Amino acid sequence: MFEADLLIRGGTVIDPERGVEEPAEVAIRDGRIVTRPAGEPCRAARTVDASGCVVTPGLIDHHAHVFAGGTALSIAPDLLLPMGVTTVVDAGSTGIDAFEAFRRAIVETARIRVLCQLNLASAGQITEAHPECLDPAHFKRERIAALAARHPGLIRGLKIRAGAEVLGRFGLAAVKAALEVAEAVNLPLTVHTTNPPCDMGELAAMLRPGDVFCHCFHGKGNAMVGADGVVKPGVREARARGVLFDTADARGNHTYKVIAAALTSGFRPDIISTDITNGSLFGNMVFGLPVVLSRYLQHGLTLTEVIRAATATPARALGLAGRIGTLAPGAEADVAIFALRDREILLTNLAGEEMTVTRHLVPQMTVMGGEIVYRQVDFL
Ligand SMILES: [Zn+2]
Repeated sequence: MFEADLLIRGGTVIDPERGVEEPAEVAIRDGRIVTRPAGEPCRAARTVDASGCVVTPGLIDHHAHVFAGGTALSIAPDLLLPMGVTTVVDAGSTGIDAFEAFRRAIVETARIRVLCQLNLASAGQITEAHPECLDPAHFKRERIAALAARHPGLIRGLKIRAGAEVLGRFGLAAVKAALEVAEAVNLPLTVHTTNPPCDMGELAAMLRPGDVFCHCFHGKGNAMVGADGVVKPGVREARARGVLFDTADARGNHTYKVIAAALTSGFRPDIISTDITNGSLFGNMVFGLPVVLSRYLQHGLTLTEVIRAATATPARALGLAGRIGTLAPGAEADVAIFALRDREILLTNLAGEEMTVTRHLVPQMTVMGGEIVYRQVDFL
């Protein structure tokens, strides 16, 4: 007799990491995904009927701000559990100086898995009143290296905002210095790219394989598509070298116009994430990751593509492929269940663009480490 703690049956499993898209059950034992041998009867302590639903690995929100109480913009990370999100990456809210507070107050107390991209600026992104200081002379290389070495499971990358208004007089020299630090500590660098001080192709050309070019579809200043509506050669070359393109949409770090032009050019995002903050949580824009994924369905991506962009690909970017972002045997038992509902909802972004989304991923249940951490009240 095959024993399971939790058995999810009746749903359609979409697990892009394994190329699976079929009606299947998901079995969980001791906090891990397990496989029932064909034909063997099963005794499960708890069974969930996911008939008519899509069952995916727990989602990874690869760009969010969750240092609640530590920065002006952040939300409490567990607010993302009802979104089907089981892993959230804080994108540079903290630098080295507040890292210990972030770790103790957020990472250690949250139910959701919180990972960190450490800001090169020692003070992180504490306030919206003024940009962080990106003077390379103030990058504390030894302390960043020491912290990264002490918390390798938690610090999965470094972060810099390469907007002209943040870089100021340091310009691309700060990005170059950030890349040197990232290289020295052997971590990927996530680069915020809105309003860059140079051509987007030039900025993309600086990045290394595995580095993350975030807010890739922004329309502030120099965009990834040229006046001819085509993705710039430097951006294409960066992708070919293995640079990852993350939407990190927020309310205003994307435009539908750039997204449409990029998709028409055949350029699809590697990672879809929210860049969610207290100004966008539960709002028309962004609301949460499922709403952003549903919008990309409307933009023309397939269901498998959007799930891949929020599971398998970010897991690989984080160096955690096979452990999270998949329902492979042995993986963490993080699972999300969604209903697909048809309804017209108008989404208006900060650029004032309007888009009607007609099909929605509506979270029904979130499972973390084999434990049900969210359940929609009528999901029985
Ligand atoms: Zn952000």
